[in-house]
Amino acid sequence: MSSTDFHSFRPAVSTKQSTGLRPEGADKADVQQVLDRAQAICAEQGAKLTDKRRRILQVVLESAEPLSAYQIADQYRDLYGKTLSVMSVYRMLNFLKENELVHRLETTNQYLPCSHISCNHAHEVPQFLICDSCKSVDEVGIRKAILQELSANIEDTGFALARQQLEFHGLCRACQTADATPE
Ligand SMILES: [Zn+2]
Ligand SMILES: [Zn+2]
Ligand SMILES: [Zn+2]
Repeated sequence: MSSTDFHSFRPAVSTKQSTGLRPEGADKADVQQVLDRAQAICAEQGAKLTDKRRRILQVVLESAEPLSAYQIADQYRDLYGKTLSVMSVYRMLNFLKENELVHRLETTNQYLPCSHISCNHAHEVPQFLICDSCKSVDEVGIRKAILQELSANIEDTGFALARQQLEFHGLCRACQTADATPE
């Protein structure tokens, strides 16, 4: 991987090797740092990361894999002992999405934290590499040249492009190796 803009799923929170369950409380400090940064990003944009929104973001950040709004509502209830309607979870997720703190995978209708919350560069059009085996997701910025060509190609058809996000399903490197191991 040559691009310096490559970030693995939740780089500030866990390492790429960690799939599945993480040790209890191991990454708490990191999560709080990311949350503080998220709060600052919102403030810069004149938006407010309320306590509820912050807790929703925390649920998404602490998950080892992307979550549906229903799963987020369940985990919120388990963690904070308060029930939120799925509608209000969706509303808060939309807020987080508009501020580029979370992304929605359109092929699975699941949410995951942006890999670039702690970065200083502008957010790029993402391509998501989704492992169908371990459910890990890599958020990779699309190279400008490819993006321009792609947009030009689409606009040639007379289509007006509104949103750009690419999602690819397959096997991550670790799962490919696991697959190749003899039984
Ligand atoms: Zn992102
Ligand atoms: Zn970044
Ligand atoms: Zn995998």
